[in-house]
Amino acid sequence: MCAQRATDLESFMQGVEAKNPGEVEFHQAVREVAADVIPWMQDHPIYLNLQMLERMAEPDRVVSFRVCWEDEEGNIRVNRGYRVQNNNAIGPYKGGLRFHPSVNQSILKFLAFEQTFKNSLTGLPIGGGKGGADFNPKGKTNREVMRFCQSFMTELYRHVGADVDVPAGDIGVGGREIGYMFGQYKRITNQFTGVLTGKGIEYGGSEMRPEATGYGAAYFLDEMLKTKGDSVRGKSVLISGSGNVATFAADKINHRGGKVLTLSDSGGFIHDPDGIDLEKVNWVKDLKNNRRGRISEYADHFKNATYHEGKRPWGVPADLAMPCATQNEISSDEAGTMLANGIIGVAEGANMPTHIDGIHQFLNAKILFGPAKAANAGGVAMSGLEMSQNSERRSWTNEELRNMLRDIMTGIHARCAEDGTQKDGWCNYVAGANIAGFKKVANAMLAFGVV
Ligand code: NDP
Repeated sequence: MCAQRATDLESFMQGVEAKNPGEVEFHQAVREVAADVIPWMQDHPIYLNLQMLERMAEPDRVVSFRVCWEDEEGNIRVNRGYRVQNNNAIGPYKGGLRFHPSVNQSILKFLAFEQTFKNSLTGLPIGGGKGGADFNPKGKTNREVMRFCQSFMTELYRHVGADVDVPAGDIGVGGREIGYMFGQYKRITNQFTGVLTGKGIEYGGSEMRPEATGYGAAYFLDEMLKTKGDSVRGKSVLISGSGNVATFAADKINHRGGKVLTLSDSGGFIHDPDGIDLEKVNWVKDLKNNRRGRISEYADHFKNATYHEGKRPWGVPADLAMPCATQNEISSDEAGTMLANGIIGVAEGANMPTHIDGIHQFLNAKILFGPAKAANAGGVAMSGLEMSQNSERRSWTNEELRNMLRDIMTGIHARCAEDGTQKDGWCNYVAGANIAGFKKVANAMLAFGVV
């Protein structure tokens, strides 16, 4: 980046940091986008003059509210709920709800900002939002989770709606929580509308939604490899996490002939040199979804596997990596180790899993690096298709949806390649995703005038 452009980025970021003090995750997400979009706007000054990036980095609104509920012992518990509605220039706000003790305004603003670009990249008419609460569903009984979800929706319902804002699941929010929240919404409003996605198949949910993010990330990885005349077949793959995204990514890597070496959770990671095949992935799904166990139990069950307490999988030599757990889970040092071990491609299944210094290392090394807003957009794309099905009162089959998902991921890859391919033929997918995502939203905002 030339000196003038670096200065412009710094002065833009000073404004963002001053307006949003202490919100480090939000600063990080905005900086990552601004570093690509500001130089691009300097070549397209209409967007610069109309302060498009400043406008997108200021959420349309942030709602925060008290969520009171009663635990099994009769104690009154108080959590904080949020909905960040970042931008609805191209469609209703759309983005997941996260229930996790780490949830705060900064994390949700970063996620809602990212979601705006991701949703734009899908090619579907959906704006960007995100929400959640600092509630920890772990260790809670079903009834406690139900009471929490009902209380949460008792406030959230006035801010959402099928044409207004359509939340979905995220960390800590799966089918069970969506069911409780949908039930409460319906009870309060007396309306059966597509206000949430990720619903059960029986009440308006879409086939393929659970699979979509992980499958989509694997499709994106394959698309990147295809540009080199290569594929996932025969490659070793590090995957982190053992939740929704990680396990379905592991399935698809297996379907495509790759070998999954690792999975993890917040306690540590397991390394199985024999490969975590489809049967073993099913064992992990059962462990996590039904038995609510720890990934360490994998190494007790599969004897060739080892468990590494408190560690992340990035030191294991492999061809490819898919971080699918949480934000900032690949540090700069770990990115260096992965490169030293010969990694050739990384597709981010989680949101912002690679620290910004790690991203720079991957980009400087010119490996295939698929950023989250492109690689993990399959989930929200499938949610967009669920919205369409609800509006039309119809449902597509599993196969129809799988084909649509593959086409959407191919389309996202093409959009990134169009804006990110450099003179030497290498594609900077980070720049491509940021610029392509920005352009569509900015063009819609141009049409609206100053609002
Ligand atoms: P899940 O709750 O199903 O799984 C999360 C996994 O990450 C679990 O294995 C969890 O371990 C692990 N984890 C959570 N926090 C940490 C931490 N601090 N350190 C190490 N491991 C951690 O979530 P999802 O799979 O749905 O989501 C994973 C990521 O993908 C998130 O970043 C999410 O925002 C993103 N994403 C999800 C989409 C979806 O469709 N689900 C769509 C797009 C993005 P443990 O079991 O110990 O908690």
